[in-house]
Amino acid sequence: MNIARKPEWLQKRINPAAHAAMEGLLGELHLHTVCQEARCPNITECFRERQATFLILGADCTRLCSFCNVTKRTPLPPDSTEPARVAEAVFRLGLSHVVITSPTRDDLPDGGAGHYAETVAAIRSAAPATKVELLIPDFLGSSESLARVVASAPAIIGHNVETVPRLYDIRAGGEYGRSLRVLRMLGELAPAVRSKSGIMLGLGETEDEVLTVFADLRAAGCSYLGIGQYLAPSRQHHPVREFIRPELFEKYRITALSMGFAHVESGPYVRSSYHAARYDGAP
Ligand code: SF4
Ligand code: SF4
Repeated sequence: MNIARKPEWLQKRINPAAHAAMEGLLGELHLHTVCQEARCPNITECFRERQATFLILGADCTRLCSFCNVTKRTPLPPDSTEPARVAEAVFRLGLSHVVITSPTRDDLPDGGAGHYAETVAAIRSAAPATKVELLIPDFLGSSESLARVVASAPAIIGHNVETVPRLYDIRAGGEYGRSLRVLRMLGELAPAVRSKSGIMLGLGETEDEVLTVFADLRAAGCSYLGIGQYLAPSRQHHPVREFIRPELFEKYRITALSMGFAHVESGPYVRSSYHAARYDGAP
């Protein structure tokens, strides 16, 4: 079943005219953002506020998740000039908090961990006061890659479980248990760094399954949680099975907080990087 008509609480409008300044800067510096590649519904609001989530290591992914709009084809080698260009954008935008993510690069020996670390170092040099949050792939569970990322000392490291384990066929190449292990390893490698995860709702999961994921994340030491509505980027992507009502998002938020998460954002338009600074205490 596909659901074509969005309910009244999902009527955010995209206004491309409001994106011009950000798109000019991103184009000048030849940078990708997940805002554009994922066709994020928050793009007008975020770009108007000069917020963006940078997509490093190219815009092509080695995996085939059926919910994701990132292009699936053989990626190019990492561009050694990219960390400095990201840092330049962070500096020019005057960001107090920035989220950096990437496609999954199973083709690279370190999964791109070194490139993440170089990007954090470049931002720290250009904009020392900016808090850097990384949203990382699973690096195929490599402890060496995770250690490399952790050593760059970002403020927050996120890794999304995306959905409940029964629906992992939409996450081709991903493994629920491996994602939990990644979060657990992050806690062991860097006890002072807050870890974060995210889950999309509306893919056909049950409430019990969602609560089990919350418990699994807490057991893995995860501190921050984002819960949002899945919206299919196109008719070719995995269909939406259900539009979750705002009241249920609020119920999940309260339940998750009672389970020990330090901060939870839960709502139809919540994405991993939406209002990311709030998790760390910003208003
Ligand atoms: Fe970009 Fe995140 Fe905002 Fe979406 S929520 S537009 S990905 S910064
Ligand atoms: Fe998209 Fe990440 Fe899946 Fe790649 S691994 S297709 S970037 S969700």
